[in-house]
Amino acid sequence: MRVLLIGSGGREHALAVSLAADPSVDFLAAAPGNPGIAQVAAVYEVNPADPASVAALAVELAADLVVVGPEAPLVAGVADAVRAKGIACFGPSAAAAQLEGSKAFAKDVMAAAGVPTARSYACTSLDLVDRALADLGAPYVVKNDGLAAGKGVVVTDSLSAARAHAAECGKVVIEEYLSGPEVSLFVVTDGTAAVPLMPAQDFKRLGDNDEGPNTGGMGAYAPLDWTPADLVPRVMRETVEPTLAEMRRRGTPFAGLLYVGLALTPDGPKVIEFNARFGDPETQVVLALLATPLAGLLQAAATGKLAEHPPLRWREGSAVTVVVAAQNYPATPRTGDVITGAEVPGVIHAGTARRDDGALISAGGRVLSVTATGPDLASARDAAYALVDGVRLEGGQFRTDIALGAVEGRITL
Ligand code: AMP
Repeated sequence: MRVLLIGSGGREHALAVSLAADPSVDFLAAAPGNPGIAQVAAVYEVNPADPASVAALAVELAADLVVVGPEAPLVAGVADAVRAKGIACFGPSAAAAQLEGSKAFAKDVMAAAGVPTARSYACTSLDLVDRALADLGAPYVVKNDGLAAGKGVVVTDSLSAARAHAAECGKVVIEEYLSGPEVSLFVVTDGTAAVPLMPAQDFKRLGDNDEGPNTGGMGAYAPLDWTPADLVPRVMRETVEPTLAEMRRRGTPFAGLLYVGLALTPDGPKVIEFNARFGDPETQVVLALLATPLAGLLQAAATGKLAEHPPLRWREGSAVTVVVAAQNYPATPRTGDVITGAEVPGVIHAGTARRDDGALISAGGRVLSVTATGPDLASARDAAYALVDGVRLEGGQFRTDIALGAVEGRITL
């Protein structure tokens, strides 16, 4: 199988490593890729958010399968353009990607499908914002309606901060605060059949003890031994199946990766958000544990044959990833710093570039996603931090408490 992977971040490097390891893949290309991806795939220049360019590249490379990593190309219609050329594509249509592209759309689908989620209001004026904030009370949750690269959500006890974020965004969704530990569940689907992957937990705040601003994600681990035994079947039954049915009913079936972000509240699991693609950095840990060849699974979903795919197989043990971010992330990250120690197995490249002289340099906010496995969570965590110790990036910042609460048995439901 000839596979073209679209994207250039840590998620895509992890996808590339797994796709390259699938014996059914005899040619792997990535566009635009990054220096880590270039170790396992042939990289091509392309504007990933330009549907015509991506489709033309897929034709030129005679790809059998295109895998779209990030959300922006999906919302722009890249999967539609690829499929229009008769090439299978793992990723939803632009219409179905609205589950991520618009929080108000996602809430509307959830309401129609009866999915457990936070009560919410979609607001287009400050007057409506004020009424919603007054009705729902503190802590206030204010979400930019559109794509915001993981930075569109403000959770605050300050009414003025909540109002200021709403005023900055224009169209927002204001919702009830959900308390409880968060879980990310990835579901591979062809629009009808749906296969859950292993739940993972990520760490959204910049600093230890969940302090500091929200980020795209600072680390992750799996599996989660503290979750209720019926979590996955319950979420499939209460959330995933009704959502997929509602999307089919609307004539815009969702096929690809449905990311279900959940809060495990005292009233059961409730949806915090849907995304239309693999999450970053949870992908790094989930794929490190997936023993089933990835390309075959994604191809089955892309061709409507997921029901015929054999059950997934998983490796024993745990996986942990620790994100090393640039100085001043998530505000205005400093780029162009030389990185050493990052060209070893397990160090996933997220925001790196190759300088003209061949040096590896930082080129984004989240620079590396340092991933390790082990027979249990404590040893996987130690192995990931040992790998972090071998990396040098001037001004680099990382959390020191990824997976620590789970190792110490401090997560309570
Ligand atoms: P999102 O981009 O929607 O995942 O939101 C980013 C982060 O904000 C989530 O991972 C949560 O930590 C937090 N968050 C979002 N919505 C809520 C909510 N309704 N209640 C509590 N926290 C939330």
